[in-house]
Amino acid sequence: MTIIRTAVVTGAARGIGAAVAKRLARDGFAVAVVDLDEAAGKPVVAEIEAGGGRALAVGADVADEQAVQAAVDRIATELGEPTVLVNNAGITRDNLLFKMTAEDWDAVMNVHLRGSFLVTRAVQGYMTKAGWGRIVNLSSTSALGNRGQANYAAAKAGLQGFTKTLALELGKFGVTANAIAPGFIETEMTAATAARVGVPFEDFTKAAAAQIPVARTGKPEDIAHAVSFFVGEDAGFVSGQVLYVAGGPKA
Ligand code: NAP
Repeated sequence: MTIIRTAVVTGAARGIGAAVAKRLARDGFAVAVVDLDEAAGKPVVAEIEAGGGRALAVGADVADEQAVQAAVDRIATELGEPTVLVNNAGITRDNLLFKMTAEDWDAVMNVHLRGSFLVTRAVQGYMTKAGWGRIVNLSSTSALGNRGQANYAAAKAGLQGFTKTLALELGKFGVTANAIAPGFIETEMTAATAARVGVPFEDFTKAAAAQIPVARTGKPEDIAHAVSFFVGEDAGFVSGQVLYVAGGPKA
């Protein structure tokens, strides 16, 4: 009998998270589609169900300790005890350092770092109990430094340290932890960046593609494919790694 495992994907109502949720459902996981607003996750759940999969939309702010615990409790009861976690929820609050407010700094740290910490802490007990688990954290090429993103770059670099520490602490329980560092992926996040700098998205992606060795920008499915590898049964000896998925060498 094949075991149906439950995966939690945060920020899964759209963009990379939605593509990851759909891919993991296709791979045979029951998927919790976690986002700020439960209603926003419902179309993704409907698509998964229409394809014959199982999914549950759950509303929670990943930076809110009580909301995270309530969400994970609900997922365990209604969908199954989660043994796969993809920490994908993210925001940007870009500005040059001298114009960056403390609120912009805190908001980014809270979602990426505090959020990943809280959800991972809430889920890891199910993984260690099962003697099997897979954690994937969304870093970014911005971890290497990116103008206008002191907050985001620091958070994404921080997630790499977080990932390696999870790999060290949880390895003996059959749990792996890896990070994916995407380059330019076409989502609402990059569309918002284009809008902020006043460039039509089509021109923005064209300019980005000109700098990328494979001569195109990334799609959410490119990241979903890498997640699918890391959470697979056969990837148990791959842990503590950072995979740059950026159409060329980065680190
Ligand atoms: P996106 O289109 O902006 O989607 C992010 C999702 O996360 C949204 O549905 C958003 O909900 C949700 N979210 C934000 N704050 C949350 C919170 N506190 N709790 C729960 N959910 C929350 O972003 P994306 O481009 O798909 O990016 C996904 C991840 O990949 C992020 O971690 C991002 O930093 C990373 N990444 C993206 C790129 C890229 O080029 N796109 C490159 C490198 C890394 P709302 O819609 O309600 O705000």
